[in-house]
Amino acid sequence: MGCEFCEQDGGAVLWRDAFCRIVRAAYEDYPGFCRVILNRHVREMTDLPESERDRMMHAVFACEQVLRELYRPEKVNLASLGNQVPHLHWHVLALFADDAHFPDTVWSAARRSGARRAAVSDAALGARLRGVLG
Ligand SMILES: [Zn+2]
Repeated sequence: MGCEFCEQDGGAVLWRDAFCRIVRAAYEDYPGFCRVILNRHVREMTDLPESERDRMMHAVFACEQVLRELYRPEKVNLASLGNQVPHLHWHVLALFADDAHFPDTVWSAARRSGARRAAVSDAALGARLRGVLG
């Protein structure tokens, strides 16, 4: 069985190192929707040794910090689901009160047609991530 995140980046790559990558998910209504994806195929956080769990969360929190700085969102959501793609990844979402789903999750039914928001460029997100993560 093929794995989407082993075969593809999973979005526009903003930052990567030998361990994981941070990509922007392709949802035009949610320009602050990123994913932190482990490079190798692992199913659950507890399959990683503790040092690698910490390394993964360091990247997740760096992504949250950068989204907060550049989007000033109402709320950030962090989610690790992997029900459809069981390859370890975290969703990091900058949300606003006038989004289509807010205050529900983006995976819920939409409540309204959401406001369009200008996207921070991939280059700007990547530069800030490199500033935080090296
Ligand atoms: Zn995989």
